[in-house]
Amino acid sequence: MRAMATEKILVLIKPDGVRRNLTGEVFARIERKGYVLENLAWQEPDRDKLAQHYAEHSGKPFYPGLLDYMSSGPIVAAVFSGEEVIAGVRSLCGATDPTVAAPGTIRGDFGRNWGSGRLENIVHASDSPESAEREISIWFA
Ligand code: UDP
Ligand code: MG
Repeated sequence: MRAMATEKILVLIKPDGVRRNLTGEVFARIERKGYVLENLAWQEPDRDKLAQHYAEHSGKPFYPGLLDYMSSGPIVAAVFSGEEVIAGVRSLCGATDPTVAAPGTIRGDFGRNWGSGRLENIVHASDSPESAEREISIWFA
């Protein structure tokens, strides 16, 4: 029997997460659940790279604010691997809106509405194997 290719996910510590010194906390939660850190890089992406990353949201009302938010400071990018790592890490992250994300999740425990008019939620996690592959090639070219 052939082993299935281990799934991978791109995780970003967004500028608010880095600014608030939550990088280690977020990665610790992912590592403690058992996923394996495969790659790691501190980055200051230009607008072009962010536009590529968030191409699916281009044209939505929140898109310009999202790019402003994502370019407001450094980002830490990482790749983790493991069986069903995408479902597992997205579950650790919690719902997109940190105000109502469940307690115990990263966004629920550390995020809130800061009155910026933007949805600042500390962490990005790929939502499918296809997006993971696409996003990993953007951040780890
Ligand atoms: N976002 C926003 N307003 C919205 C929806 C999303 O500002 O109404 C931002 C938020 O930072 C979110 C990102 O856009 O994390 C990507 O949105 P998506 O729906 O893919 O959520 P995620 O996969 O990050 O939970
Ligand atoms: Mg998404």
